Amino acid sequence: PTRVFSGIQPSGGMHLGNYLGAIRKFVDLQHEYDCHFCVVNMHAITVWQDPQKLLEQTMHIAAAYLAAGVDPEKAVVFHQSGVRAHAELAWILNCVARIGWVNRMTQFKDKAGKDAERASVGLYTYPVLMAADILAYKATHVPVGEDQKQHLELARDVAAKFNHDYDKPDFFPQPEPLIKGQFGETGARIMSLRDGTMKMSKSNPSENSCIYLTDDTDLIAKKIKKAKSDPEPLPTETGGLEDRPEAKNLVGIYATLSGKSVAEVLSEFGGQGFGVFKPALAELVVEKISPISAEMRRLEGDPAFLQGILRKGAERASEVTEPILKEVKETVGYLV
Ligand code: ATP
Ligand code: MG
Repeated sequence: PTRVFSGIQPSGGMHLGNYLGAIRKFVDLQHEYDCHFCVVNMHAITVWQDPQKLLEQTMHIAAAYLAAGVDPEKAVVFHQSGVRAHAELAWILNCVARIGWVNRMTQFKDKAGKDAERASVGLYTYPVLMAADILAYKATHVPVGEDQKQHLELARDVAAKFNHDYDKPDFFPQPEPLIKGQFGETGARIMSLRDGTMKMSKSNPSENSCIYLTDDTDLIAKKIKKAKSDPEPLPTETGGLEDRPEAKNLVGIYATLSGKSVAEVLSEFGGQGFGVFKPALAELVVEKISPISAEMRRLEGDPAFLQGILRKGAERASEVTEPILKEVKETVGYLV
């Protein structure tokens, strides 16, 4: 059976990359599969979070799920810390994963920066907690952005090593990443508006680098106008976007949001400059995200409602994870 798990960290405001790389896929998947969508607050504290803000951001991510069209009656929507299996399984899997595997993770290097000695131990073992998130459900499919591909590979290795070490060849399935969007590769990696070689991120945003789902029309227009670009007109062929990371990113965003291929977008805008393309892009972004942001604002005005959704979701999620956790504990020789 196909079982889906994914999560988003309440580490800041929800941006266009999270929407296109993750949430939009969730909305499609929920109709067909057994889906679990989590607000991963345990991951968020791998870097310092103000407690009050962490709670608010948790509601913000829950609101984004619902506003984008995730139906909490269909998919299970919950907070990670509300389901004990995540933490308990993470410990066991920390003892399965090898230091050498974790040392290869590029996200740790990016997030820890130059002074890795001062990063939290949690940030270091983050990929193992992510493996636990997925395996606690025996999830088979994980819709994520391109940046999570390496962590998914680690989760697969952890699953295989657990199965091998405890001589249970079929215990954990090998989780498959679902990285491509509905419209192909575009959307799987949305880049910063200020630097086409860095991904758009919640946690280290430079000014004007992110479009947040809650940005208003003027702010979106301003950010896109200020987005880094180059003096050349847009090419007429997709090959002409190579070595032009900023142009490639902006065209990619247009293609993903409009449901057109990059080639189709270029057949429309090829030969024209950014003075024409940027306002068209701003208009499209506003058209697609303003209904979501309006609904997010409405939902965030009722935190008690959102809390109720998450708590009920955590109960439903626990019904899935408890039997799996029990079997894991018996397998490793814990008294249960
Ligand atoms: P942080 O900077 O705190 O890590 P983030 O913006 O990377 O935040 P996450 O909560 O780590 O967001 O990731 C949530 C989901 O969004 C993941 O599936 C991730 O792959 C996806 N995602 C994040 N950034 C992008 C992006 N720029 N383009 C496409 N998908 C993205
Ligand atoms: Mg991230």
